[in-house]
Amino acid sequence: MKIKLWGVRGSLPTPPLPEEVEARIRGLFRAFFKAGNKELGQVEAFLASLPPPDFGGYGGNTPCIEVITDRSQVIINGGTGIRRLGYELMRGPCGQGKGEVHIVFTHFHWDHLVGLPFFNPIFIPGNVIHAYAVQPELPDVFKNLFRKPYFPVNLADLGAKIIYHQLEKRKSFSIGDMTLTPYQLDHPDPCWGYRFEKDGKVFSHCVDTECTRATREELGPDLPLYQGVDLMTFDAQYTLFEAIEKVNWGHAAASIGLDIAMREGVKRIVFMHHDPAASDEKIAAAQTQAGRYYNGQHKSSARSGLTDLHQVDWTFAIEGMTFDL
Ligand SMILES: [Zn+2]
Ligand SMILES: [Zn+2]
Repeated sequence: MKIKLWGVRGSLPTPPLPEEVEARIRGLFRAFFKAGNKELGQVEAFLASLPPPDFGGYGGNTPCIEVITDRSQVIINGGTGIRRLGYELMRGPCGQGKGEVHIVFTHFHWDHLVGLPFFNPIFIPGNVIHAYAVQPELPDVFKNLFRKPYFPVNLADLGAKIIYHQLEKRKSFSIGDMTLTPYQLDHPDPCWGYRFEKDGKVFSHCVDTECTRATREELGPDLPLYQGVDLMTFDAQYTLFEAIEKVNWGHAAASIGLDIAMREGVKRIVFMHHDPAASDEKIAAAQTQAGRYYNGQHKSSARSGLTDLHQVDWTFAIEGMTFDL
């Protein structure tokens, strides 16, 4: 499986402000010369030496993830990230009206839908769009999304054929050569994460969750979402302090995901759904805080001598990142 992150921002698309871009360019020029560089030929090496968010930031498109194998493709959610994915698909069969697209929805908050009216394959006659959700409202959601006066094209006038698939809770189903199972997350409106399996590799999507149920007992039937996982995308909209402050807002902090990952032996975890109110610098600070938390947990576990805490490979999501499983 290959996983590509087309949108990692939560709640609202967040393009960088002109003054933020200016401040970054100014800061980079200063850092370039302060490091003793003088020539054009030194630019690329200097930029490559920076942590990636210091150069391009974390990205502002709302959630959209592509999961691909040699034979199949599944898109998770229709946030604004899906617009650019649509451009790419239009260069293949979708551009000729021979495309088949599979989109699974976690839930229907705006940030997970708002890119769909700008997903070009949906307007091409001959294309088939399969839409999947546990929630029975899925067809109504499409009807309301493609409707005047909110959008000029009514659902009935879209070129592509839309086929709805209502999923059963915690019951596995197949899309091409991948097996998916929806498990419930903790969010103000019902929200379902997905466990993807292919050739013994597992990718779990656990975003838009407060993880109010964190122990094995509390998670109960949803525990398999977190077990035997090679790569997990997890909600880190907030810092730990904000997560405590914003109870019932439906989002988590990286430390919560790290605790679960260390306990359940998750190999790699990627934190996303960054807060739209957070600057790149603030997200970087949350990343540093997560690192302190992770290292602290390992140090205290080593001191106690009781158990060897599981080592997790973790990172904060940057738009455009890809992962191979
Ligand atoms: Zn969201
Ligand atoms: Zn949501």
